[in-house]
Amino acid sequence: GSSGGGHECSFKILLIGDSAVGKSSLLVSFVAAAHLDDDIAPTIGVDFKIKFLTIGGKKLKLTIWDTAGQERFRTITSSYYRGAQGIILVYDVTKRESFTNLADVWTKEIESHSSNKDCIKMLVGNKIDKEDERTVTREEGLAFAEESGCLFLESSAKTRDNVEKCFEELALKIMDVP
Ligand code: GDP
Repeated sequence: GSSGGGHECSFKILLIGDSAVGKSSLLVSFVAAAHLDDDIAPTIGVDFKIKFLTIGGKKLKLTIWDTAGQERFRTITSSYYRGAQGIILVYDVTKRESFTNLADVWTKEIESHSSNKDCIKMLVGNKIDKEDERTVTREEGLAFAEESGCLFLESSAKTRDNVEKCFEELALKIMDVP
C-alpha cells in the first residue's frame, strides 16, 4: 500500500526563447531565496538550478535548465531536451521579434528535439513592467498560446510579478499527466 506523505515528484523543466528575453532572470528570481550564493554561469553552456516546493500537498523537486547563452548560436542539443516534462517558452513583450521567433524558430526546434510528446508548455510574455514599450499585446500572446497548446502568463522578473506562478502552474499541469 501507499506509504502516505513525503512522496517527492521530480520534474525537469526547460527555459527556451531568444537571448535577452529574461530567461536567466526568471530562473534567478524564482530560486533566489534558496540559492543566493549560486550565481548564473557567465560562460556559454547549459546551467540548471534546483528548487523544492510543495504544491497541493505534494513535495516537488524542479530541476530547471537554462540555456545560458547557447540559444544565440542555435546549438541547443537533444540532451538539453531529454527527459523534460515541461517547457517554458519566453518572449519579451517589448521585443516583437522575440515573439515571432517562438513560432518561426523555437516551436520547430522543440518539435525536432523533444522526445516527450506529453511535454507541457507554458508561454510567458516577460518584462510587463515596461508597459509603455510594449509591442506584443496580451491578446496576441493568448491567441498564440491557444493555437500552440500552451498555458499562458505575462510576467516581470524585475518586479517578480507572476514569476512563481509560471513555474507553479506548469508544475500543477505536469502533475495532471497520467
Ligand atoms: P536571457 O538571455 O533570456 O537569459 O535574459 P537575461 O535574464 O539575461 O535578461 C536580459 C536583460 O533583460 C537583463 O539586463 C535583465 O536585467 C533584463 N530583464 C530580464 N527580465 C526583465 C523584466 O522582467 N523587466 C525588465 N525591465 N528587465 C528585465
